[in-house]
Amino acid sequence: MKRLAILGSTGSIGTQALDVVSANPGIFKVEVLSAHSNSTLLIEQARKYKPNAVVVTNEAKYKEVKDALLMLPIKVFAGEKSLADVVQWDTVDIVLGAIVGFAGLHSTLAAIEAGKRVAIANKETLVVAGELVMQRAAATGAVILPVDSEHSAIFQCLVGEDINSVEKVILTASGGPFLGRKSNYLVNVKASHALQHPNWSMGAKISIDSATLMNKGLEMIEAKWLFGLSNEQVDVVVHPQSVIHSMVQFIDGSVKSQMGLPDMKLPIQYALAYPQRLPNTYKRLDFKEHAKLTFEAADYKTFRNLAIAKDAMYKGGNAPCVLNAANEIMVHAFLQNKVGFLEMSEMIEKTMDSVPFIEHPTLADYLSSDTEAREYAAEFVKKSQLSM
Ligand code: NDP
Ligand code: MG
Repeated sequence: MKRLAILGSTGSIGTQALDVVSANPGIFKVEVLSAHSNSTLLIEQARKYKPNAVVVTNEAKYKEVKDALLMLPIKVFAGEKSLADVVQWDTVDIVLGAIVGFAGLHSTLAAIEAGKRVAIANKETLVVAGELVMQRAAATGAVILPVDSEHSAIFQCLVGEDINSVEKVILTASGGPFLGRKSNYLVNVKASHALQHPNWSMGAKISIDSATLMNKGLEMIEAKWLFGLSNEQVDVVVHPQSVIHSMVQFIDGSVKSQMGLPDMKLPIQYALAYPQRLPNTYKRLDFKEHAKLTFEAADYKTFRNLAIAKDAMYKGGNAPCVLNAANEIMVHAFLQNKVGFLEMSEMIEKTMDSVPFIEHPTLADYLSSDTEAREYAAEFVKKSQLSM
């Protein structure tokens, strides 16, 4: 039995991870569940999966969760610090990092310090502090397994290969709901429209990131750190059908890809069960239903977030951390109709110009860069016409 701590259990990845657990009785046991504000779902999940502990990071929700689980042998904790403690318990074998955003950094680092196996969906953690995260994992022996579908695909292509024989990785991008659109159209799009992803059903933040292509920029940085690549070895191609989840090109010119229907349960299951492949009955990819797989270059000019993220990757230091913080503020504001779609890129760039560059940041530097970037970005949002 593999004992799991599922951080962010109420989210899109978290709930699908619990579906994987349910589909594989006797293989996984839920040891810890964590959520932030969705106490109703957390309580329901706790009653169903009977974990040893639940952690609600939003302390205002503690009493409600505690009272609801009073009659059950489940420990209830509140706050980010408790989460960092619980992931280090001896009874936890695998930590699934499925919290959204910078908020996942602390608990992921705690799991790594305890040498845990970490299945990581929370890409922002690797964007913010990928160098540090990978260094600490190397030092503690923590194994990091990707959950993001592109990175899972690359990981699967690399099984049995020597990393030195990789020429480059090619991340596929669906292009999101606004593929082919230009600025004159994008200037007016609203959150409700941007949330409609053509191929994947995901949480709100990553859905907006997919519409702006920031998601692919974050994934470039994520790939760089996960696989120890140079900036030049990370490439992107638009593939609207989302059947090829990514590719690896080797030094002999050979290219391997991993394919499947777009269903996050597959990469989640692969990361949790690795190196085993578990059987399942999910719908299979039928090539006859996907007669045409197409590829095109990404439009870096229109979807400027992709270009800004790529620049941040090349710049290194605290630049990706600042990028991520500014983007989190922008996505939040866009979801509340307080900034326009194209304004997000402008304000992220302005934030990056405002926060001083640190070439070799410490963890404390990442934390302060994040705070500073959020403050600048929030000020820029206030100046948007939509906020007035
Ligand atoms: P959701 O918004 O659906 O879920 C986020 C989870 O994080 C919820 O459980 C939420 O709790 C919790 N959470 C939110 N804020 C905090 C906080 N401040 N502290 C602690 N926990 C918090 O996100 P997704 O599941 O879509 O995404 C999770 C991560 O996985 C992201 O990093 C995303 O980029 C990545 N990912 C997601 C994919 C997808 O298909 N969804 C695909 C690839 C990667 P509550 O609900 O209680 O507020
Ligand atoms: Mg992805």
